[in-house]
This record gives sequence, C-alpha cells and structure tokens, in this order.
Amino acid sequence: MNAPVDLAAALRPRPPSPLQEIEDEPFARRGIRLLLKRDDLIHTTIPWDTDTLGPVELYPPGNKWRKLEPNLRAAAAAGARTLLTFGGAYSNHLRATAAAGRLLGFGTIGVVRGDELAGAPLNPSLARCAADGMRLYFLDRDRYRRKSEPEVLAALHDRFGAFHVLPEGGSNALAAQGCTELGRELRGVADTVGVACGTGGTLAGLAAGLGPGRQALGFAVLKGGRPHFLTGTVEELQRAAFGGPRGDWRLEDRFHCGGYARRTPELDAFADAFERRHGLPLERVYVAKLLYGLSTLAGEGAFPAGSTVAAVITGAP
Ligand SMILES: *Cc1c(COP(=O)(O)O)cnc(C)c1O
Repeated sequence: MNAPVDLAAALRPRPPSPLQEIEDEPFARRGIRLLLKRDDLIHTTIPWDTDTLGPVELYPPGNKWRKLEPNLRAAAAAGARTLLTFGGAYSNHLRATAAAGRLLGFGTIGVVRGDELAGAPLNPSLARCAADGMRLYFLDRDRYRRKSEPEVLAALHDRFGAFHVLPEGGSNALAAQGCTELGRELRGVADTVGVACGTGGTLAGLAAGLGPGRQALGFAVLKGGRPHFLTGTVEELQRAAFGGPRGDWRLEDRFHCGGYARRTPELDAFADAFERRHGLPLERVYVAKLLYGLSTLAGEGAFPAGSTVAAVITGAP
C-alpha cells in the first residue's frame, strides 16, 4: 500500500459547488425561481503520485465527498491504513470510498450486500470499485443486516486484520457535520432546498447549515412506512452531530416510486422530458425523484409565488 499522501493538503477546502438558475415551466408558471446546486460537479483537487498510481480517473463523488472528507481526516488521525465500509451492489458510497482510498493511499474493503453476487461478473459500479483497488467481500443478507454487531465485525477482523469502519452510505455524525457546509453555501440564496435522501446524513447536515427562516425538504427514495423511518434517523444523526435538533426540515415520502432504485412510467416520463428540456442527464435513483417531487409540489401550490427553490443535484448518472 502507498503511504498516505499529505492529507491536510489533499483535503483542503474546495470552493462551493456551482449554483445554476434554470427556467423550468412548472416552476416559472407559478412565479417560482428554480436553482440547481450542482454538487455533481464537485471534483476534488487531490494530488497523487503518478509514478506509483498511474493516471487516476476520479469518479465524481457528489455529495458523498462532503460526507467522506471529515471521516477520512478522522481515519488518518487515528492512524488507520485501511477503510472498510458497506453498501449495495450499486452503492455510490462504495465507489466514492474506493476512489478516495486510491487517491489518498488508504487500502479499502467494500462489504457488499448479498452473497449471491459472489460468483457473478462484477457490475460496472463494482468493477469501478475493484479498479480503484477496493477488495470486495460479499456478505449474505442476514449477516449484512447484523453488520454492526460485534460478532459480525469480529469475523471481518479475522479475515481482513485492522481496519477503520465507515458506516453504510457514509452517514454518521461526522458526515452530517461535513454536510453543514452545503447548507451554508445556500444560506440567503433559497427559501426551500430539496435534497434526495437515502441514509439521511446529507439532509441532517444541510438543514443544520441552512440557518433560520429557510426550509430543507428531504425526498425519501426508499419506501419506509408512515411515519417514514428516516425521520427518526435524521433526528438521531442531528443529536449525534450537533447535540439536538437543528434547522427547519421535513421529510417528503410520496415520491419513492415503489422503493430504492424502483421506477414508474410517470417518473421515467418526467425525467426524460426534463433531460430534453435542459440537456442535463439525470441520475435516476436519487436526483430524478427529487426533481419529480419538487415539480409535483410546485404544481400543488406548495411554494409561494416569488419564492426561490434550490434542488441539490447530489450526483451524476
Ligand atoms: C447517497 C446519495 C444521496 C443520499 O444521501 P444520504 O446522505 O444517504 O441521504 C443522494 N443522491 C445521490 C446521488 C447519492 O449518491
């Protein structure tokens, strides 16, 4: 494994992600301004040693970078050389961790949900993880569910030795703290900020950073019952990160379209039309559901005329 590069330099603060105003009919018709917060364009300026690593094509990490950065600092401060984390077969978090590990000189281990995948050819997402040097380990669904239990972690340590654990989806207190910067970048810019939610860390931090008088709206992409389980998760993350509730936020649970990575003909038609109108390819698991939800709410009169709505484009297709 390569020696970790100078983390202080490698993780230096980046400029805010770009903000782009677009004219979109369902919003414009009601006198609402729509801004896109382009976190999909976050790219890191991480130096690397081209002699040992060769050219690195960095997977654009989107919002995952905001969550990973403080966790990578903590891992380095704890003297960790290897990161272990968890995700599904198409996890953006696994890809971002693999890329960050390669660039920063951490070894990475990706524990993937589902041992039925073990013998199969890697899908493009996991192939990318492997190309970035991530060791992949497929865990059966029962043990995957119990991944935080000492017994499962002990078995992983027996297999892989010492490692620093990052949670599934990268969401923990440090991740939520990292995402407050997203809120701060949007302070005074928008009245309502929408973001798609998987594990809730991004919403927890965004709401905290946004400041008073502005609302963060989280759009759940997973089916989660009523009230949606994510509401409790976000509350817990805020308690862990900030000591209690922060900001004005709410979870919208009507636009998961059947659940994680599920789609409906209405969602597809919306996303295809949006892409045609703006020439902007949409990430379909999260971002398409966010924009579908926001435009439906605009149509329902949820946002007053003269207000500004920002949609966080958390990742690229
Ligand atoms: C992970 C992810 C999210 C959700 O972030 P959470 O902090 O897990 O809620 C949203 N959009 C994209 C593109 C993602 O990869």
